[in-house]
Amino acid sequence: MSKPRLATVWLDGCSGCHMSLLDMDERLLEIAERADLVYSPLVDTKEFPPAVDVTLVEGAVSSEDDLRRIHEVRARTKTLVSLGDCAVTSNVPGMRNPIGEAPLLQRAYVENATINQGIPSVVVPRLLRRSRPVHSVVAVDVFLPGCPPSADLIYFVLDELLAGRTPDTAGITHFGA
Ligand code: SF4
Repeated sequence: MSKPRLATVWLDGCSGCHMSLLDMDERLLEIAERADLVYSPLVDTKEFPPAVDVTLVEGAVSSEDDLRRIHEVRARTKTLVSLGDCAVTSNVPGMRNPIGEAPLLQRAYVENATINQGIPSVVVPRLLRRSRPVHSVVAVDVFLPGCPPSADLIYFVLDELLAGRTPDTAGITHFGA
Protein backbone atom coordinates (compact mmCIF):
# COMPACT_ATOMS: atom_id res chain seq x y z
CA MET A 1 0.00 0.00 0.00
CA SER A 2 1.33 3.46 -0.87
CA LYS A 3 2.05 5.90 1.90
CA PRO A 4 -0.03 9.05 2.49
CA ARG A 5 1.27 12.04 0.56
CA LEU A 6 2.34 14.90 2.85
CA ALA A 7 3.16 18.52 1.96
CA THR A 8 4.07 21.70 3.79
CA VAL A 9 3.63 25.21 2.40
CA TRP A 10 5.18 28.52 3.43
CA LEU A 11 3.07 31.61 2.71
CA ASP A 12 3.45 34.91 4.64
CA GLY A 13 5.17 33.63 7.76
CA CYS A 14 8.60 33.89 9.34
CA SER A 15 9.46 30.18 8.86
CA GLY A 16 9.26 29.69 12.63
CA CYS A 17 6.47 27.15 12.21
CA HIS A 18 8.68 25.13 9.88
CA MET A 19 11.51 25.43 12.41
CA SER A 20 9.16 24.00 15.03
CA LEU A 21 8.32 21.16 12.62
CA LEU A 22 12.03 20.40 12.41
CA ASP A 23 12.16 20.40 16.21
CA MET A 24 10.32 17.07 16.11
CA ASP A 25 13.89 15.76 15.82
CA GLU A 26 14.00 11.94 15.68
CA ARG A 27 10.24 11.82 15.19
CA LEU A 28 10.87 13.24 11.72
CA LEU A 29 12.32 9.85 10.81
CA GLU A 30 9.17 8.13 11.99
CA ILE A 31 6.99 10.54 9.98
CA ALA A 32 9.21 9.97 6.94
CA GLU A 33 8.58 6.22 7.33
CA ARG A 34 4.84 6.75 7.44
CA ALA A 35 4.38 9.40 4.71
CA ASP A 36 5.97 10.66 1.50
CA LEU A 37 6.94 14.33 1.71
CA VAL A 38 5.98 15.38 -1.81
CA TYR A 39 6.26 19.19 -1.51
CA SER A 40 7.82 21.52 1.08
CA PRO A 41 10.44 24.27 1.53
CA LEU A 42 12.46 21.34 2.89
CA VAL A 43 12.53 19.48 -0.46
CA ASP A 44 13.33 20.54 -4.00
CA THR A 45 9.97 20.03 -5.72
CA LYS A 46 9.04 23.18 -7.65
CA GLU A 47 5.35 22.63 -8.38
CA PHE A 48 2.66 21.67 -5.89
CA PRO A 49 1.63 18.14 -6.96
CA PRO A 50 -1.87 16.68 -7.27
CA ALA A 51 -3.51 14.23 -4.86
CA VAL A 52 -1.86 15.32 -1.61
CA ASP A 53 -3.41 13.76 1.49
CA VAL A 54 -2.25 16.25 4.16
CA THR A 55 -0.86 19.77 3.73
CA LEU A 56 0.38 21.96 6.57
CA VAL A 57 0.15 25.66 5.66
CA GLU A 58 2.32 28.20 7.49
CA GLY A 59 1.61 31.90 7.12
CA ALA A 60 -1.15 34.28 6.15
CA VAL A 61 -2.43 35.04 2.67
CA SER A 62 -0.87 38.42 1.96
CA SER A 63 0.03 38.68 -1.72
CA GLU A 64 -1.42 37.79 -5.09
CA ASP A 65 1.09 34.95 -5.22
CA ASP A 66 -0.11 33.62 -1.83
CA LEU A 67 -3.68 33.78 -3.13
CA ARG A 68 -2.89 31.81 -6.28
CA ARG A 69 -0.91 29.25 -4.31
CA ILE A 70 -3.48 28.62 -1.56
CA HIS A 71 -6.23 28.00 -4.12
CA GLU A 72 -3.97 25.54 -5.93
CA VAL A 73 -3.03 23.84 -2.64
CA ARG A 74 -6.66 23.57 -1.56
CA ALA A 75 -7.73 22.06 -4.88
CA ARG A 76 -5.03 19.41 -4.64
CA THR A 77 -5.23 18.57 -0.91
CA LYS A 78 -7.57 16.29 0.99
CA THR A 79 -6.87 17.58 4.52
CA LEU A 80 -5.57 21.13 4.88
CA VAL A 81 -4.08 22.21 8.22
CA SER A 82 -3.64 25.87 9.21
CA LEU A 83 -0.28 25.69 10.97
CA GLY A 84 0.41 28.48 13.45
CA ASP A 85 -1.14 31.80 14.35
CA CYS A 86 -0.26 33.56 11.08
CA ALA A 87 -2.28 30.98 9.16
CA VAL A 88 -5.03 30.83 11.80
CA THR A 89 -5.54 34.56 12.53
CA SER A 90 -3.08 36.43 10.21
CA ASN A 91 -1.18 37.34 13.40
CA VAL A 92 2.05 39.24 12.60
CA PRO A 93 1.38 39.79 8.87
CA GLY A 94 -2.04 41.18 9.83
CA MET A 95 -0.42 43.97 11.84
CA ARG A 96 -0.03 45.89 8.60
CA ASN A 97 -3.76 45.85 7.85
CA PRO A 98 -4.66 49.13 9.62
CA ILE A 99 -1.76 50.92 7.90
CA GLY A 100 -2.87 50.29 4.35
CA GLU A 101 -0.93 49.00 1.39
CA ALA A 102 0.37 52.28 -0.08
CA PRO A 103 1.82 53.83 3.13
CA LEU A 104 3.36 50.47 4.03
CA LEU A 105 5.17 50.15 0.70
CA GLN A 106 6.24 53.79 0.83
CA ARG A 107 7.74 53.30 4.28
CA ALA A 108 9.50 50.04 3.44
CA TYR A 109 10.82 50.74 -0.04
CA VAL A 110 11.23 54.54 -0.12
CA GLU A 111 11.49 56.18 3.32
CA ASN A 112 13.60 53.44 4.90
CA ALA A 113 15.64 52.58 1.79
CA THR A 114 19.17 53.93 1.59
CA ILE A 115 19.74 52.71 -2.01
CA ASN A 116 17.47 51.92 -4.96
CA GLN A 117 14.49 53.74 -3.51
CA GLY A 118 11.28 52.78 -5.26
CA ILE A 119 8.34 50.46 -4.91
CA PRO A 120 9.02 47.27 -6.91
CA SER A 121 6.71 46.50 -9.80
CA VAL A 122 8.30 43.23 -10.93
CA VAL A 123 9.51 40.05 -9.15
CA VAL A 124 8.08 41.02 -5.74
CA PRO A 125 4.46 39.76 -5.67
CA ARG A 126 1.85 42.47 -5.37
CA LEU A 127 0.34 42.80 -1.88
CA LEU A 128 -3.34 42.19 -1.26
CA ARG A 129 -5.14 45.05 0.42
CA ARG A 130 -5.27 43.04 3.65
CA SER A 131 -3.32 40.09 5.00
CA ARG A 132 -5.87 37.34 5.64
CA PRO A 133 -6.06 34.09 7.63
CA VAL A 134 -6.14 31.01 5.44
CA HIS A 135 -9.71 30.01 6.35
CA SER A 136 -11.03 33.36 5.08
CA VAL A 137 -9.85 32.37 1.61
CA VAL A 138 -10.26 28.57 1.39
CA ALA A 139 -11.78 25.86 3.57
CA VAL A 140 -9.52 24.63 6.38
CA ASP A 141 -9.95 21.19 7.93
CA VAL A 142 -7.72 21.43 11.02
CA PHE A 143 -6.56 24.50 12.98
CA LEU A 144 -3.28 24.31 14.88
CA PRO A 145 -2.64 27.64 16.65
CA GLY A 146 0.56 28.74 18.37
CA CYS A 147 3.41 31.06 17.51
CA PRO A 148 4.80 28.66 16.70
CA PRO A 149 2.90 25.52 17.65
CA SER A 150 5.27 23.28 19.58
CA ALA A 151 6.92 20.30 17.96
CA ASP A 152 4.86 18.07 20.26
CA LEU A 153 1.60 19.57 18.97
CA ILE A 154 2.68 19.31 15.34
CA TYR A 155 3.63 15.68 15.92
CA PHE A 156 0.28 15.02 17.60
CA VAL A 157 -1.62 16.39 14.60
CA LEU A 158 0.50 14.52 12.05
CA ASP A 159 0.32 11.30 14.06
CA GLU A 160 -3.46 11.48 14.19
CA LEU A 161 -3.91 12.40 10.53
CA LEU A 162 -1.50 9.74 9.28
CA ALA A 163 -3.37 7.19 11.39
CA GLY A 164 -6.58 8.18 9.62
CA ARG A 165 -8.04 10.02 12.60
CA THR A 166 -9.18 13.65 12.97
CA PRO A 167 -7.06 15.37 15.62
CA ASP A 168 -8.94 17.15 18.36
CA THR A 169 -7.25 20.56 18.51
CA ALA A 170 -10.14 22.36 20.19
CA GLY A 171 -8.30 22.72 23.49
CA ILE A 172 -5.14 24.17 21.97
CA THR A 173 -4.77 27.89 22.54
CA HIS A 174 -2.56 30.30 20.67
CA PHE A 175 -0.09 29.90 23.55
CA GLY A 176 0.37 26.30 22.44
CA ALA A 177 4.13 26.51 21.91
FE1 SF4 B 1 6.39 32.84 12.60
FE2 SF4 B 1 4.69 32.72 14.68
FE3 SF4 B 1 3.78 33.25 12.23
FE4 SF4 B 1 4.66 30.80 12.80
S1 SF4 B 1 2.87 31.80 13.73
S2 SF4 B 1 5.10 31.98 10.94
S3 SF4 B 1 6.35 31.28 14.24
S4 SF4 B 1 5.19 34.55 13.44
